[in-house]
Amino acid sequence: MSNLMDKIVSLAKRRGFIYPGSEIYGGLAGTWDYGPLGVELKNNIRKAFWQSIVYERKDVVGFDAAILMNPKVWEASGHVQAFTDPLVECKICHQRLRADQEDEIKDHEKSHKGQKVTWTERKKFNLLVEAKLGVVEDERTKVYLRGEITQGVHVNFKNILDSTRLSIPFGIAQIGKAFRNEITPGNFTFRSREFEQMELQYYVRSEESESKKWYEYWKQQRMDWYVNLGMTRKKLRFRQHEESERAHYARDAWDIEYDSPFGWKEFEGIHNRGDWDLSRHQKHSGVDLTYFDQESNKHYLPWIIETSGGVDRAALFFLIDAYTEESTRSEPGSRSYSEPGSEDSAKRIVLKLHPKLAPYKVAVFPLLANKPDLVQKARSVYQLLTTNYQLLPVAWDDRGNIGKRYYSQDEIGTPYCVTIDFQTLDDDTVTIRDRDTTKQERVKIEELTDILESRLQR
Ligand code: ATP
Repeated sequence: MSNLMDKIVSLAKRRGFIYPGSEIYGGLAGTWDYGPLGVELKNNIRKAFWQSIVYERKDVVGFDAAILMNPKVWEASGHVQAFTDPLVECKICHQRLRADQEDEIKDHEKSHKGQKVTWTERKKFNLLVEAKLGVVEDERTKVYLRGEITQGVHVNFKNILDSTRLSIPFGIAQIGKAFRNEITPGNFTFRSREFEQMELQYYVRSEESESKKWYEYWKQQRMDWYVNLGMTRKKLRFRQHEESERAHYARDAWDIEYDSPFGWKEFEGIHNRGDWDLSRHQKHSGVDLTYFDQESNKHYLPWIIETSGGVDRAALFFLIDAYTEESTRSEPGSRSYSEPGSEDSAKRIVLKLHPKLAPYKVAVFPLLANKPDLVQKARSVYQLLTTNYQLLPVAWDDRGNIGKRYYSQDEIGTPYCVTIDFQTLDDDTVTIRDRDTTKQERVKIEELTDILESRLQR
């Protein structure tokens, strides 16, 4: 892994974003656990997705399907048959790799140094994770943990139509876990065996031109969403799938890719699924899934434009994109708040996360922990801030010196730090310190909540 990835992995563990799954038992490949800060980051990603896709629109509703579904769903959707990746096996060490992952194949060849690597023919391997359901051993039914969250939506298409007043075009959004028997999990959380997806299934009239129009619309919407949440635009690009790499259901497929330390990588796919899913479920279930269009007085199966992103991959790329190392001395106009000569006076690590994504919105510090007046006053400011929903969660820190506390908050992306000092006791003012500029300003406590709230809205 690159140097930057090493730093991200170590920061994630040290500060409580992401830990290896089941670590005390030696781990379980391809699984990750999210710590106190990681869960906030993921929640914030989910919230921002829901806000833009469901709450800010009239044409999209939310949904949450069961992870376990009747196995017929996966036969109908083509996953039992087609959810297979061609694999090749290294004839020297017998490690299997996906035949379409050229970079990993090259890296593997390099790892054998002087030896010439030859590979077996491509073989297919089913990615669906199997489970057994039922209490009596012999009668247990084989089920699958869903390989994508998509199908839960399509099999409920009729239910949702019947219980809402939606008319085409409309969408159904969902966020939830999916599971894949990935052959080569790796690059930290990038490729895991258990991961979370955030998706929109948008149903449109079954016409080429109509589907193209919505396809372009959703491609742009989703790109804008990442950019508006602070991702560096030049590190993002669209890439169209070649016909040979398209999933079995896709009429057209583009990925949003990020220029990561391990190459340009997909973290969201936008697919034109045509009427693949509805027609297959209609055929396999025998239930009429057509939509009745009152204007044209016709029944038809709508086409589906899908946007399918990964919550974990987004979290990882937001972390990578936000990670910054700065020399504190070169900051124009900044105050030096570190002890001269201390190691952190030369460099600070800052996660420049968008305030909407930052795990903590604000941190509150008493200047000195051993002055009861200061601590009591700081506690009251802390209480005040925690009554405002927009500012939650608020961090509290009274350890060490103030410079170290600022650095500690910088490293986890807290946008603002509020310090209660001796002047506070005289005139009820506090300082607000800005994570990105490190500038401090003094404001009245009575105005603090409004000021912070308006800055966090940016
Ligand atoms: P890849 O080619 O990287 O395996 P995919 O094309 O199979 O991905 P999709 O089936 O389109 O991925 O899934 C949609 C999104 O779900 C991906 O863009 C990604 O963000 C997320 N995702 C898919 N597989 C994984 C995984 N193994 N680990 C983490 N996230 C994943």
